[in-house]
Amino acid sequence: MTPHHSERNAWAKRHRKALTARHTHEDVLTDREFELLLEACSELPSPRAFQARFICLIAGRLGLRAGEIAHFDTTWLDWDRMLIRIPQYEPCACGYCRRQSIQEATRNDELTEEEALEVRWHPKTIASARAIPFDLSLRLELCIERFTNRYDSFSHSRLTINRRVQEAANQANLNGRVYPHCLRATAASYHAYKGVAPVPLQALMGWSDLATAQKYIRISGTATADALRQVHHR
Ligand SMILES: [Zn+2]
Repeated sequence: MTPHHSERNAWAKRHRKALTARHTHEDVLTDREFELLLEACSELPSPRAFQARFICLIAGRLGLRAGEIAHFDTTWLDWDRMLIRIPQYEPCACGYCRRQSIQEATRNDELTEEEALEVRWHPKTIASARAIPFDLSLRLELCIERFTNRYDSFSHSRLTINRRVQEAANQANLNGRVYPHCLRATAASYHAYKGVAPVPLQALMGWSDLATAQKYIRISGTATADALRQVHHR
């Protein structure tokens, strides 16, 4: 086979993969599905009802990752500026942090498990340390307020977060896939539809790459429609 052929095959393979791979944005919940999910949270027994609501709201509207929710601490809240400040570092040695440290040490010969654990917990990337406004709706603001009335930190495992979301989704009879990361994608999509620009969307979501924000905005079509209407309706 000539190099040209194999290149073309590689391209075709990648292209096929791009067309058939399942993307998180395909699992995004509609506004109606998200409301049904929140409604279902309240039907769960206490304290799971509130925990599920807290998770669904801060993941599904503010885009927090499951790992961030599992390490959420009320010291992250800036009440003067109504911001959640995801820190670069939060001392932790939970089961998840230990497992991650072991993995990191396995991948990097110059790093010991102890050294890896010393910098845990930290968010996924440097861009993930960010400030997230929580006064975007009264509903969100109240949920954060209720959380601080009850807890100092979330202090539940990643697994618990998955379970709460799953329980709420079952209760809501939401067919298909509902999981913490699809709630994060739901938040991104929600803000893209509202017309949030690429740079603030990237900052909110803590993406390292502007292209991800641009992808959500392109899929939403809002920016395209607005730009075309501005030209044609003047
Ligand atoms: Zn931890």
